[in-house]
Amino acid sequence: MNHYKVIIIGSGPAGLTAGVYAARANLSPLIIGGLTFGGQLMLTTEVENFPGFPEGIQGPDLMQKMIAQAERFGAKVLYDDALKVDLSSKPFKIEVGKDIYTADALIVASGASSLWLGIPSEERFRGKGVSSCATCDGFFFKDKEIIVVGGGDSAMEEASYLTKFASKVTIIHRRDQFRASKIMQDRVLNNPKISVMYNTTVEEFTGEEKLGGVKLKDVNTGEVKEMKIEGAFIAIGHNPNTSLFKDQIELDEKGYVKKSGRDTHFPMATSVPGVFVAGDVHDHHYRQAITAAGMGCMAAIDAERYLGLDHG
Ligand code: NAP
Repeated sequence: MNHYKVIIIGSGPAGLTAGVYAARANLSPLIIGGLTFGGQLMLTTEVENFPGFPEGIQGPDLMQKMIAQAERFGAKVLYDDALKVDLSSKPFKIEVGKDIYTADALIVASGASSLWLGIPSEERFRGKGVSSCATCDGFFFKDKEIIVVGGGDSAMEEASYLTKFASKVTIIHRRDQFRASKIMQDRVLNNPKISVMYNTTVEEFTGEEKLGGVKLKDVNTGEVKEMKIEGAFIAIGHNPNTSLFKDQIELDEKGYVKKSGRDTHFPMATSVPGVFVAGDVHDHHYRQAITAAGMGCMAAIDAERYLGLDHG
């Protein structure tokens, strides 16, 4: 009962697009979508660059539409986490809660998660003023002064969004220039509610029960100053969600799933025959919803072709 031709782990744009394609190929896939399903777009507001939505679309709405589309063609979505996988023999085994699911082919689309600064006080104030999700927590900072840490597109996006609530947003960036795209930078630099502190790092978050301040270090002079804030949003990049696959699939030095590159018929193949990869769990270069979706399509087509072959 728990056997599927194709199981997809992940329910972001990569996993759900793989689900649409595998379902339309009559493979009746199971998508193990996770307890926090929908991937990183669930933590995003307006998505302005996904083709087909000229007015933009909210991230969670886009994900709901993708789920509905996959289900329409017969994909089953499980809103639970995969706890363990065994890829050492066929069929592949995936443990979810007390159940074991088996599959002839597996698509890994487990995405990536936000990075944290890693200082002890950050952990202490997480959920008490320190957050990595402006969409989730921005509302709590109405008329308050906050900081956003980072210099990429995520930091720009979070800072712009947070001006809807906060009285003042200061971006803290460790270098003297942003990594973000020009259009996102311009939006931030032209916003009167946003100011920027370059060449600055976070030394420590301070406060009693809740976050009340931050100690900031000027990297050129070494000077440390304290600033009163009630919120801090960390937007410094991501880590691949590959802990399940360690020692089973070949990963690169940063922990992202490597493509095997050994068979041009299966461009999305990994080091394990029958296991394919799609989205941010492989790609740390583009990281876009549309590129993840494209890879999901490719992985599903590869899986379909792989299953069509005689593997003895
Ligand atoms: P990112 O481009 O990797 O930028 C991370 C930023 O955080 C960098 O400025 C980096 O500083 C800084 N940083 C990293 N570790 C740090 C640390 N320990 N302490 C302080 N600062 C640290 O990550 P991202 O902004 O999440 O973007 C990832 C990808 O998603 C990009 O390709 C981006 O274009 C895309 N994205 C697109 C959109 C959009 O188009 N709407 C929105 C969000 C993200 P350095 O610059 O010094 O390395």
